[in-house]
Amino acid sequence: MKRDIEQLSQGTYDVLVVGAGIAGACIAWDAAQRGLRVALIDKGDFGGATSANSMKTVHGGLRYLQDANLPLVRKMIYERKAMMQIAPHLVHPLAFMMPTTHKLMKSKPVMQAAMKLNDMISFDRNQTGDPQKELPNGHAISRAECLELMPGMDASKITGGVVWYDAQMYNSDRMLLSFILSAVEVGAHVANYVQADGFLQDGRQIEGIQARDVLTGEAFNIRSRLVINAAGGWTDGLLNAVNGVATKTRFNLSVAVNLITPQVYSDYAVASTSDYTYKDKNGVERHRSNMLLIVPWRQYSIVGTFHRPYSGHPDEYVLTDEAIAEYLNEVNTAHPGVNLKPEDVLWHHEGFVPMEEGGDEYDGIDLVREDSIHDHSSEDGVDGLLSVVCVKYTTARALAEKVVNKALKKLERPSINCRTAVTPIHGGHIKQFLTYLSRQIADAPYDLKPPVLEHLVYNYGSAYRQVLKYITENERWLEPLPGDSDAIAAEVVHSVRSEMAVKLSDVILRRMELGTGEYPGDDTLEAVADIMRQELAWTYEKMHQEIAECKRIFKRVEEKEPVAAL
Ligand SMILES: Cc1cc2nc3c(=O)[nH]c(=O)nc-3n(C[C@H](O)[C@H](O)[C@H](O)COP(=O)(O)OP(=O)(O)OC[C@H]3O[C@@H](n4cnc5c(N)ncnc54)[C@H](O)[C@@H]3O)c2cc1C
Repeated sequence: MKRDIEQLSQGTYDVLVVGAGIAGACIAWDAAQRGLRVALIDKGDFGGATSANSMKTVHGGLRYLQDANLPLVRKMIYERKAMMQIAPHLVHPLAFMMPTTHKLMKSKPVMQAAMKLNDMISFDRNQTGDPQKELPNGHAISRAECLELMPGMDASKITGGVVWYDAQMYNSDRMLLSFILSAVEVGAHVANYVQADGFLQDGRQIEGIQARDVLTGEAFNIRSRLVINAAGGWTDGLLNAVNGVATKTRFNLSVAVNLITPQVYSDYAVASTSDYTYKDKNGVERHRSNMLLIVPWRQYSIVGTFHRPYSGHPDEYVLTDEAIAEYLNEVNTAHPGVNLKPEDVLWHHEGFVPMEEGGDEYDGIDLVREDSIHDHSSEDGVDGLLSVVCVKYTTARALAEKVVNKALKKLERPSINCRTAVTPIHGGHIKQFLTYLSRQIADAPYDLKPPVLEHLVYNYGSAYRQVLKYITENERWLEPLPGDSDAIAAEVVHSVRSEMAVKLSDVILRRMELGTGEYPGDDTLEAVADIMRQELAWTYEKMHQEIAECKRIFKRVEEKEPVAAL
């Protein structure tokens, strides 16, 4: 996958997707697979915005049972199974647990009934052909078991618990990248760091976009019969650039935050309702109630998700220490024994999710539950433009299927069945994950140790040998990178040569996830930067700039160690 800006300005695409979050990535893959001429751009790195910050849960929609929204629950169950099948190395079962209380809707009989109903609705969830992907039935556990597994919880309200199974992405950044790599394999043209600044418009017909290479500042046009605005939290900002589109809000911004901490609970993701009191900025005591999850991921816990309305520009959002303190108060009230402190917050993930209108900073917000597609020809009389609002990583593939169905109609192309739910994405050509993994460990190419092979297979799946192909050129690339991970130097080379990594942060955060859980350390940053310097012919000055820029992303590190000292 090569970054070829010149190519983008040649000819006319059928579909140009603006925004390479999970929605745009899935649309590009589906549209290219169905034979359309596709381009995909992002103003930052692929998946660098909200999609990089998801909790990594592939939901089966259990929570929507309480709304009796059975079609949505079924859809999410289907998508969970599809994701486990098309990316078996990246999506794995995860056990969830929730305490029951004396409140009727959280009582043991009601929760047990919900588990039963959930199992019935998801009767076909295990038809994947892979025993490792099996999701057992939900069941109740005793109060004693519950307290043993969740020692941090406030025991006074607990009557017992329930356990159910969902799925989790091992590496959501590589999941997104795999959709993009798949799109490229079937002909899509893609580029990161290309911003849509405006539209090419003939009256009420959109004919493409005015683009800018963010790395060089060069402006150019990309022509397309259909433009798909998949800009996430920037959707409305992009629409403001269209002459003739009504300025009503399509993506009502709210900010969602997760905190990364040392691991709190190891075997289960723990769900609980947090009821806590806090002071607003005028010092008035207020009450808030929220669904809280503490999810094990690698050696960490992902704690959240905390939702607040947001009225600023998406580029200007900053997570404050006050907000972190409030979130910790919320967790510690629900799990007094856990007692998380600000210094336990290793890193934070935040992004934008759409909320219903009327959300209030103090009394909470109502999140939009279903994805939507806006056809601006019927909504505004402007042709050649669709906007999509994606509300869940889990449903992005299904959203893309609908978008491409619509695109085919608009382009007056014959309808072609969507195959993305059953076609393995890049690296996903694995029938039974554990069998595949143990075979690779037994083969041990280059005598690689089991933890390194495990790391490679979990991240790159059936494509992991592509990472090893560079070893014939330089055996030293088999060496591990400094730090705690099992990553090897060849992965950095692969990120640059085959995965369009152009900045140090692309590799650290999204190709190799070296810094997704916490600051990876100066040694790791420097080792990766030095390989990139050689690959991309950076000067030493440029390399130090990249290191400084990367450190600035990890603000907590910058505070401890001024960048000026570099
Ligand atoms: C904290 C948090 C936890 C979550 N947890 C889960 C979870 O566990 N499971 C789940 O299913 N979902 C979860 N979600 C929801 C899920 O992450 C989002 O619904 C999804 O990632 C949205 O993807 P997107 O592609 O619409 O947006 P984004 O990922 O934001 O992508 C939009 C892209 O458009 C680009 N862009 C914007 N303007 C322009 C322009 N002018 N030119 C070019 N590019 C542009 C941006 O750079 C960005 O990369 C979570 C969300 C958050 C914030």
